[in-house]
Amino acid sequence: MIDAHLHLEQYPVPELEELLPELPRHGVEAVVAVSMNLDSCIRTQQLAARYPQRVLPAYGYHPEQPPPGEAELAVLLAWMEEHASSMAAVGEIGLPYYRRMEAVKRGESFDMEPYIRLLDALLAFAARHRKPVVLHAVYEDALLACDLLDKHCIRDAHFHWFKGPEAAVARMIGHGYYISFTPDIVYEPEIQALARRYPPQLVMAETDGPWPFEGPFSGRRTHPAMIRDVAAAWGELRGYSADQAEHMLTANTARFYRVSALRSL
Ligand SMILES: [Zn+2]
Repeated sequence: MIDAHLHLEQYPVPELEELLPELPRHGVEAVVAVSMNLDSCIRTQQLAARYPQRVLPAYGYHPEQPPPGEAELAVLLAWMEEHASSMAAVGEIGLPYYRRMEAVKRGESFDMEPYIRLLDALLAFAARHRKPVVLHAVYEDALLACDLLDKHCIRDAHFHWFKGPEAAVARMIGHGYYISFTPDIVYEPEIQALARRYPPQLVMAETDGPWPFEGPFSGRRTHPAMIRDVAAAWGELRGYSADQAEHMLTANTARFYRVSALRSL
């Protein structure tokens, strides 16, 4: 299988030295490794250079942190320009839903404008280079992200760990946008309902590792192999065997991320 979204560079190096060579033994042929900012992009790029084919790198600026200044964004975009040919996708990019909710809870105002400008600039980059985009845009933010995707005529959009209102779900399906499920599909009723609703050909499996999970995964280190649990749970909800589910999700991920030459596919 392919883990469609994780933060590989956030695992400690000694752990990666064990984890990456061992992946095929766990049934994982490749991972889509997203980045948070320039430093994170550089670490992701180094991992992709050491493990070509196994690590599919995505470069971008994560929205759940203070937005970059103009000069910082220019440096990031110049670096991405330099690495455009080896980049699998632009990500992780999107809108700061959780950051905004925390500010609102504290009774503070929150200015979305810099985040919208940032996302607009990164989508313009993706459109110019015809790269797929990895989006963090949940709940009502998904509709705003859809507006920006329309503006840039981007069709290859992956809303990772998506949850949101029916209006967004219907619009995303209409546009053929992909979503991915994390291990929380095993225990979250809201996510299980989405799994029953979303077209099987537009679905992928991810871990968002090293992010930790609850339920049966509580206390366990998040490992890319957990996408096999995601596949089994998704298959059960949709009436597919675990094998069929793994095959379908892998084919979807390979199609979306344009992976043509994985060894066991
Ligand atoms: Zn992520």
